[in-house]
Amino acid sequence: MKKQIVVIGLGRFGSSVCRELYSLGHEIMAIDTDPEKVDALRDHAAFTVIADATDENQLKSLGVRNFEHAIVAIGDNLQASVLCTLMLKELGLPKVWVKARDLQHEKILNKVGADRVIQPEKEMGIRIAHHVDSDKIIDYIDLSHDYSIIELVASGKMANKNLVDLNIRVEFNCIVLAIKRLEDVNIAPAVDDVVEQGDVLIVMGHKDDLKRLEEKAL
Ligand code: ADP
Repeated sequence: MKKQIVVIGLGRFGSSVCRELYSLGHEIMAIDTDPEKVDALRDHAAFTVIADATDENQLKSLGVRNFEHAIVAIGDNLQASVLCTLMLKELGLPKVWVKARDLQHEKILNKVGADRVIQPEKEMGIRIAHHVDSDKIIDYIDLSHDYSIIELVASGKMANKNLVDLNIRVEFNCIVLAIKRLEDVNIAPAVDDVVEQGDVLIVMGHKDDLKRLEEKAL
């Protein structure tokens, strides 16, 4: 479904979020104080605006309150990002996601009502570390401190066995949420579904159990 999203701050992070959302078909308003940044996004947003997102009157006159989702990617300007977040929440935007540069910034943003705080470098660093740690893991999502979802490539050892034979549930206390085979995605696979070498298993579990699974099964 098409969403109305305002992206504020069009540096590397904000501009790539904007381009991707636009290519996914969403209606984007892209805002930055820098005319060059705004110009570069002209073909990747429904509206591009040169404005200072810490100016409440400008935000109001742009009708920002009518957007359902804001991405604040003002980068290193802590004061501007905090002020903008506060104003967007005061204007009543239901979802305000904000890029933070560090933990201190993240704490302040949470206090002023950010609905999600993103530290892209930190999050990407963790993902990359897991990819380096195991070349069988192709993606990784943290659900909490203890639980994750990972994408594992099925090895020859797992091939031609069904989920009961593999015993992932009982032996590793993990749940196979889906199996991807090229473009096909088998969601909620049945216990007798057979895994082929190269299938991608999307598995949820405790991090310790996922590690055991990865070491033993692959
Ligand atoms: P990144 O690390 O993602 O490249 P940057 O810090 O380089 O982030 O980019 C932040 C962007 O936010 C810049 O393009 C800057 O012009 C913009 N910006 C900074 N302050 C404001 C503001 N008050 N209103 C709108 N845009 C702003």
